[in-house]
Amino acid sequence: SVAAITAMALTGCSSSRSGGSSSSDSIPKGSTIGVSLPAKTSQNWVLAKAAFESALKADGFKADVQYAAATNTVPDQQSQISAMIQKGDKALIIAAQDGAQLGTQVKQAKAAGIPVIAWDRNITGTKNVDYYVAFNNYKVGQLQGQALLDGMKARKSSGPYDIELFAGASTDANAPVFFDGAMSVLEPKIKDGTLKVLSGQTTFAQVNTAGWLAQNAQTRMSNLLQKTYSGNEELDGVLSPNDTLGRAIIQAIQQDHKTVPIVTGQDSETASIPLIMNGTQYSTIYKNTNEEANAAVKLVKTLSDGKKPATVIDKKNNYNGVKTVPAIELTPVLITKENAVKEYANNPTLEALAKAGAK
Ligand code: BGC
Repeated sequence: SVAAITAMALTGCSSSRSGGSSSSDSIPKGSTIGVSLPAKTSQNWVLAKAAFESALKADGFKADVQYAAATNTVPDQQSQISAMIQKGDKALIIAAQDGAQLGTQVKQAKAAGIPVIAWDRNITGTKNVDYYVAFNNYKVGQLQGQALLDGMKARKSSGPYDIELFAGASTDANAPVFFDGAMSVLEPKIKDGTLKVLSGQTTFAQVNTAGWLAQNAQTRMSNLLQKTYSGNEELDGVLSPNDTLGRAIIQAIQQDHKTVPIVTGQDSETASIPLIMNGTQYSTIYKNTNEEANAAVKLVKTLSDGKKPATVIDKKNNYNGVKTVPAIELTPVLITKENAVKEYANNPTLEALAKAGAK
């Protein structure tokens, strides 16, 4: 009967609507997926475009990948996202320049029935973000904090150790999570006197780096050296949240003719691998950009197939101020010169750099 057919059609329709988010009605096969990336403040963002283009193509989608400009970055990203919605892109994958400034745009997406996936960086202060795909950022911070301790201990068997702390941009939801993860390891050691922060600057508000810009970290490091380490004080370690800032910190220290301390990093940037292999930078983190892009595209594919993706609810990492965004969390790997060749085995570029440096 007509009634039965209608009922079946409705059931079919509602079951495909129930896949994890209210808005993921349908992503038609072969449709265009908008990927909105921030300014290129580190190499991972540069690599992301090609990673998305090939992953989307492999699953039969069309890619609309755009970067926010280096200046006026936030308004640029906002208008790019609005344009993607207007053009009819069928899902949005967004790495926010400023996670707190996209509320209007993701609301527009929601109104248009377009699923929103925050990628690498969460989007905050809104309920209109359906999924979050990223590495476990808190774990990144823990690995950095532990590497700092291990590196200093390997160089000087007992403390106290003098350290300084750097964090990323306050506009990036990841930055406080990296910092909290690192401080979960370092704070107890500061309390028991193993670690000393001679500048006294230990809060995120005091140690963040505006815009994740190398120049800002370099200036702060130079100032710290002049104010706090101009006598016999010896700096044993610096917590750096990524490689770009790590190299800027190292440069400031070298310009001051000081011994480079243990410096951490993140991203496995090609410019840092040689420094790690020759002992100038102690550690980095490997977050494979292809793996991260593939995970987001696989999620789009799952939604497009009308299936429910497997996600985790992890408040420590993925609470955006309004909700804990259902997430796909990937595992970051700590890299030092000991394991670089082995861990980069799935990445010809990084493996070659590690091997060249190991000689
Ligand atoms: C990313 C890091 C990157 C930083 C600066 C963060 O959101 O997770 O990998 O180093 O942004 O671009």
